[in-house]
Amino acid sequence: MGRVVFIGAGPGAADLITVRGAARLAQADVVLFDALTDPALRELAPRAKWVHVGKRGFCDSTGQTTINALLVKHAGEVDRVVRLKGGDPSVFGRLEEELEALALAGIECEVVPGVTAAIAAAAATQRPLTRRGHGRSVSLTTAMTREGSLHATRSADTEVFYMAGKQLAALARRLRAAGWSDDTPASVVSRAGWPDQLHSDHTVASLARAAMLHAGRPTVVTVGAGAAALARAPTRADHVARALHVNP
Ligand code: SAH
Repeated sequence: MGRVVFIGAGPGAADLITVRGAARLAQADVVLFDALTDPALRELAPRAKWVHVGKRGFCDSTGQTTINALLVKHAGEVDRVVRLKGGDPSVFGRLEEELEALALAGIECEVVPGVTAAIAAAAATQRPLTRRGHGRSVSLTTAMTREGSLHATRSADTEVFYMAGKQLAALARRLRAAGWSDDTPASVVSRAGWPDQLHSDHTVASLARAAMLHAGRPTVVTVGAGAAALARAPTRADHVARALHVNP
């Protein structure tokens, strides 16, 4: 009976996987991977059999049941199975279902952490998620409920919303209803950690304007203390924007 290692691939570029993750991947016989992981990661395990089980957002329970069954099947056939997940496996990764299925089958597991999208977005934009004094708590929140409706909260000084990219106008309305004021900073980053990552700055009131720019791309929305830009010298682009009266 083999063992299964869950590895967080990080948010994008293959070099954002951890050293431990890369080492475990190199030993894999079979790799079950998602849609969000970088194809360049394949070079870390060229001899392994790569099985695509990709899914985005909520997959139906049949899809998840199939993945659970595939994990158990492969662990019965080979020594080292890797389950590669985008970002960190413990954040919106359906990890509990897969761990439970393997535990029920008596299969040993290990979880190797990865860089989750919220952290990658904070790094990409140089916006620390915590701020001394006024950014004392951070919440990672999925905007989508299990039923597929949108939900927003105000449970921390900085709130990072996953899975809201398609519904930014609705998210803005829900944020206001949850008590965030119109002028609260909102930073939107899509494909964080990839060479083509995009970032735009908004407020809760103007969040809907981000929809076009980030359409069709994995996106996180950071709201509150951790979304605010740091003080810096004005750039040429700032002077141009001011002259043109462009506000984010
Ligand atoms: N386990 C992953 C999250 C999977 S849920 C992690 O830890 O990051 C999928 C959601 O994650 C997407 O809808 C999007 O909101 C977010 N996401 C994943 N990769 C992203 C990236 N590179 N940039 C921005 N958001 C990303």
